[in-house]
Amino acid sequence: MGPIAIATGSDFITGCYIAAFVLFIVGIKQGTHPTTAKRGNMIAAVGMAIAVAATLATDAIDNWPIIITALGAGTAVGWAASARVAMTDMPQMVALYNGLGGGAVAMIAWSEFRSGIHDGVVFELESFVPILFSMVVGSVSFWGSNIAFGKLQDLLPQRPVKLPGQTFLNGILLVAIVAGCVSLAIDNESPSEAIFVACLIGAAVLGNLFVLPIGGADMPVVISLLNAFTGLAAAAAGFALDNTALIVGGTIVGSSGTILTLEMATAMNRSVANILFAGFGGAPAGGAKGDIEVRPHRSIGAQDAAISLAYADSVVIVPGYGLAVAQAQHAVKEMGDALEKRGIEVRYAIHPVAGRMPGHMNVLLAEADVPYERLVEMEDINPDMPRTDVAIVIGANDVTNPAAKEDPDSPIAGMPIIECHEAQQVIVIKRSMSPGFAGIDNDLFYLDKTAMLFADAKGAAQEIASEVGKL
Ligand code: NDP
Repeated sequence: MGPIAIATGSDFITGCYIAAFVLFIVGIKQGTHPTTAKRGNMIAAVGMAIAVAATLATDAIDNWPIIITALGAGTAVGWAASARVAMTDMPQMVALYNGLGGGAVAMIAWSEFRSGIHDGVVFELESFVPILFSMVVGSVSFWGSNIAFGKLQDLLPQRPVKLPGQTFLNGILLVAIVAGCVSLAIDNESPSEAIFVACLIGAAVLGNLFVLPIGGADMPVVISLLNAFTGLAAAAAGFALDNTALIVGGTIVGSSGTILTLEMATAMNRSVANILFAGFGGAPAGGAKGDIEVRPHRSIGAQDAAISLAYADSVVIVPGYGLAVAQAQHAVKEMGDALEKRGIEVRYAIHPVAGRMPGHMNVLLAEADVPYERLVEMEDINPDMPRTDVAIVIGANDVTNPAAKEDPDSPIAGMPIIECHEAQQVIVIKRSMSPGFAGIDNDLFYLDKTAMLFADAKGAAQEIASEVGKL
């Protein structure tokens, strides 16, 4: 028993949990707008701190030295890792944290099972089913998230890795795991730990086999889906432990993860089933040089780009993953300001899946204090593209590829794009002719109206800003 030991179901603990849930919900709500997202994160974090503190204060807690040591070690590692991680590596960080959540839930389930066997209890179905569910889904989520991390971190091949008949094999494995769990539930007076562990291992193998055949480009969607799985597993663990905080927190994560997964799939105009089973998106991050045949194209320097931009009436800046890699957001803002000073209308076109995570561009541009009104969503900017004098693409590629609209056989066919090819002139800042994440060539680069500026996005934007200032 802990040093505080307030009764688990007491009004005080329940009140703390309710306060925590309110803060979670307010935090998530604030996260839906770039101007309030940071504060939303803090508010939700305070909610989590209250939920953890209230749980630690209950009489259900013992083993304080272990808990304090684990909390201290986890906080130190998490703090150091978060402080160091580059913005571009955030998706794999989320994968790792999500996986740990799933793994923790699976371990809670195993420990509940073991202590039940040790105490000789007859497992009631209403708590045993959640234990089994948490064990299976938590284990799938842990291993699947680790594979997603490995792919995004380039530790594993980004291409889909698939055995012949793999979907069928996965189905058989899933049926075997469910059968194992059913046999445990039937034999609830003395369930076999060997079968429990076999199901845990089976779920681990399933987690690996589920994610390996999915290409690197689709990992953010997979992570979001696994995040939803972890949430549901945590909610189930909450039922097993009779902990309201876990039930509500897990349900919020499960539902928001599901909504995010569906939104991302919609933004790519693909079904979740297509993402999970079609094996698309095998190119290495940043593109596979040499995989595409480079056709004739026009290249210009920063000075020429500055002249085209400075004499335009309207300019649309199209940011993408390369802007994040180059950390060019401040330089791009500087360039936008230099153009605005000349009375040019400057807007930023935001594609929902530009970059490597939802909202990536909004976060970066907000960090550089680009006014929110200048950011225009894809469906609002596209009708204005034909009357745009210059579309300047900065480190974006797939999200501007006309093949998505024009070539039904393209791997990105149907994905909505920022229609830069409709603008009067196009300038593309990137370092080479390498493809983007989907690993395919981009016809935009070869149009007569397109000029390529081969440079790092930050340096190029700074140079253009300075050249515009001189004109
Ligand atoms: P892309 O990955 O298509 O292209 C980025 C481009 O940036 C590359 O072609 C690269 O070319 C260039 N680049 C890299 N570093 C620099 C640098 N330092 N300076 C200048 N340019 C640089 O990015 P997009 O944003 O257009 O598209 C995002 C992709 O990610 C899509 O395929 C999308 O489906 C996928 N995705 C995104 C998700 C999200 O939530 N945002 C989720 C799932 C998938 P070069 O090497 O020649 O410089």
